[in-house]
Amino acid sequence: MEMVRHLSEKGISDRRVLDAMAEVPRHLFLETMLDYMAYEDRALPIKCGQTISQPSTVAFQSELLDAEPEMKVLEVGTGSGYQTAVLCAMGLRVFTIERQKELYDITKPRLERLHYRPKCFLGDGYRGLPEYGPFDRIIITCGAPAVPEELLAQLKVGGVMVVPVGGEHQEMLRIVKTGDGPADTLRQRYGDCNFVPMLEKLDYGGK
Ligand code: SAH
Repeated sequence: MEMVRHLSEKGISDRRVLDAMAEVPRHLFLETMLDYMAYEDRALPIKCGQTISQPSTVAFQSELLDAEPEMKVLEVGTGSGYQTAVLCAMGLRVFTIERQKELYDITKPRLERLHYRPKCFLGDGYRGLPEYGPFDRIIITCGAPAVPEELLAQLKVGGVMVVPVGGEHQEMLRIVKTGDGPADTLRQRYGDCNFVPMLEKLDYGGK
């Protein structure tokens, strides 16, 4: 498939990521008006002023996770559910949180219809899901002003968090938790990126 060829050319080599992205129908995660652009490498608007990440970003974050099937993964920022579906297609056990009720209400049934089986939560990703942790992997798909410490606490020792950190523009960080102390992390930097901001508290859209 054209999109997957493009991703390999961009340097994505994780077979599980490429296979998952070949399988997941991205056009079904978009408004019908935009679905003709689904397989171009671009971010597109979804509801609530949010965006579906561009395919190369989804592939890059998924590859940085370095995950094995059956691992427990926490995703912050369900959005359209596309990244969620890719993680499910990689064979991971996915727990995903979205703070906008309107998106949660659309995306949860969408994933069910497509037979992906993540556990979807409406909540504030900053708090994570302590009752379901600890997680092998954590992926954050919105720009965090700083590394969310509460989430690091929900990561297993040896686990990996992939998170864009910064204000208007962010830097992609891959954080390996090397021990139980707050300073026990190894941080690797993977260049600039652009995500919608990670915000606090729930958004019920005035309903
Ligand atoms: N992975 C998604 C990306 C959507 S954009 C996709 O490919 O479609 C990022 C999402 O993060 C938005 O839907 C936004 O509402 C959500 N978000 C922002 N701050 C959050 C928080 N604190 N907790 C949970 N979700 C959050």
